[in-house]
Amino acid sequence: MTIESAIGNTPLIRLQAASELTGCQILGKAEFMSPGGSVKDRAALRIIETAERAGSLLPGGTVVEGTAGNTGIGLAHICAARGYRCIIVIPETQSPEKLQLLRTLGAEVRPVPAAPYASEKNFQKVAGRLAASIPGAIWANQFDNTANRSAHYSGTGPEIWKQTSAEIDGFVCAVGTGGTLGGVSRFLKEQNPRILTAVADPTGSAMFNFVTRGKLQTSGPGSISEGIGTTRVTQNFAGAPVDTGWQIDDQSCVDWVHLMLQEEGLFLGGSSGINVAGAVEMARFLGPGHTIVTMLCDSGARYQSRLFNRNWLRGKGLEPNSLRLAKAS
Ligand code: PMP
Repeated sequence: MTIESAIGNTPLIRLQAASELTGCQILGKAEFMSPGGSVKDRAALRIIETAERAGSLLPGGTVVEGTAGNTGIGLAHICAARGYRCIIVIPETQSPEKLQLLRTLGAEVRPVPAAPYASEKNFQKVAGRLAASIPGAIWANQFDNTANRSAHYSGTGPEIWKQTSAEIDGFVCAVGTGGTLGGVSRFLKEQNPRILTAVADPTGSAMFNFVTRGKLQTSGPGSISEGIGTTRVTQNFAGAPVDTGWQIDDQSCVDWVHLMLQEEGLFLGGSSGINVAGAVEMARFLGPGHTIVTMLCDSGARYQSRLFNRNWLRGKGLEPNSLRLAKAS
């Protein structure tokens, strides 16, 4: 077995607390078990394979990407395995754990100040220009390169369909590049158009308003979650058959992340907290007796200094409080 063949085919774990709370079966796809530790290994592998097949990435070539971290980590693993140079442009607001890991994996890391997409200094645009300036380099371009969505259309979606024995009523997850939701929703709707598909959107992102009202409008304060939330419709998300959505605040995210660790031993990152909170909203919307799938995108180990640091959380006005969660239900 190669490192590449260990990507994907992740277990689908029953989330006990969320299931008991709602009377639904809520299942989480354990993407944190992938070799690079996140859902983005799938996209990273497919992007590299597609570029190799197209002849744009040749032996000894360079892969450049702008990433909040996880795609870079996935790319760094595959570049090491296949002998490519890997350059990662990352907003300096991302967790120090991710920056350190990227360096350890052998990527050349170029932190840049956070800048909105409209700015030429935005990390994605910096990465694109950098790739164009290096001979033999490709820009992975995870946001608009639909190899990303394809990995979920032909991998994650069919896995979920098989693992639930086609008994699935809903799928919900957050959008970063939109590759996951774009690919999985498309595959599942083709199997059964009655499957409800939804976005779980952190505050400060525009996807909730886009999906529910057709307006690319942000609402609420910026979120502490990393790798998710966006203000534009990427090529990977364009045309995705997504029915509805819920906006999830940071307190719910923190509550779920801590509850899942304390009660189920699942150590997860913030986007997984947003996703599970979204699955609970969907369960309330559908009523008891339904099966809902979401994504457990990466591990809490990537966010120890933030999400699992009570002082850091307090500085953001957040308190992990699973009792509050139970009472609220
Ligand atoms: N969760 C985490 C932790 C991520 O890094 C990402 C990707 N940026 C996502 C969720 C969202 O996945 P996608 O890019 O497929 O929308």
